[in-house]
Amino acid sequence: MNIRILGCSGGIGAGLRTTAIRVDEDILIDTGTGVGDLTLDEMRAIRHVFMTHSHLDHAVGLPLLLDTVFEARSSDPLLVHGRVETLDALRKHIFNWVLWPDFSVLPSPEAAVMRFQEMQVGGSVELGGRRITAVDVNHTVPGLAYIVEGNGKVFAFSGDTGPNRTLWQALNELPRLDVLVVETAFANRNLQLANESRHYCPDTLAADLGTLRHDPDIWLTHLKPGAEDEILGEVRAALPGRRLQRLVGGETFTL
Ligand SMILES: [Zn+2]
Repeated sequence: MNIRILGCSGGIGAGLRTTAIRVDEDILIDTGTGVGDLTLDEMRAIRHVFMTHSHLDHAVGLPLLLDTVFEARSSDPLLVHGRVETLDALRKHIFNWVLWPDFSVLPSPEAAVMRFQEMQVGGSVELGGRRITAVDVNHTVPGLAYIVEGNGKVFAFSGDTGPNRTLWQALNELPRLDVLVVETAFANRNLQLANESRHYCPDTLAADLGTLRHDPDIWLTHLKPGAEDEILGEVRAALPGRRLQRLVGGETFTL
């Protein structure tokens, strides 16, 4: 498996892109502004999108991606996977003919370039030797983490979440965990804001990550622009025994 980080910032700015992760050549997890780093051919090769949740920093690239690959997908739709609340939000608030055309009925309902595929919490999708499993998390809108298993290795991405038991329980039930990308949106001085917006800050992440029985490479993501070094320093201080780094974008992991 090849994991490529296209976007990993909690905001935008020169050199900063929001959440998008490519798995091999055909799968995207989230479609933040990082999608814009793919070449046209790379965009045409995307067959599946797995949405963690509906928030704009994770979804804004999807309508633009579809517009860009429209001809390539006209005989072979892009499948957009997510929990029902996420897919409903995309239909209602993005593909509503006001913000963007409804690509789930274009060029015709029978041969649309996009199809929605509902995922159940705890459900899995098998795609060419890779299994993607949806795990419930704790965000201000219904959200998912994804566990990706392939080639005997395991990659997990938290999506957006505050403190929860579901993700850590699911990770502890895995036979192994090689790479974990986990969000830490805020520094400890923003603890209240982190809790209200259901994101992690270093102290709350450390409390949950302390229960993890695996020892993966851990990469922090979704850090607020300007607070990256502060957040990484606080997480490292709280979890001195863990292998911790922060994503900056452009990383690839071969598993
Ligand atoms: Zn969010």
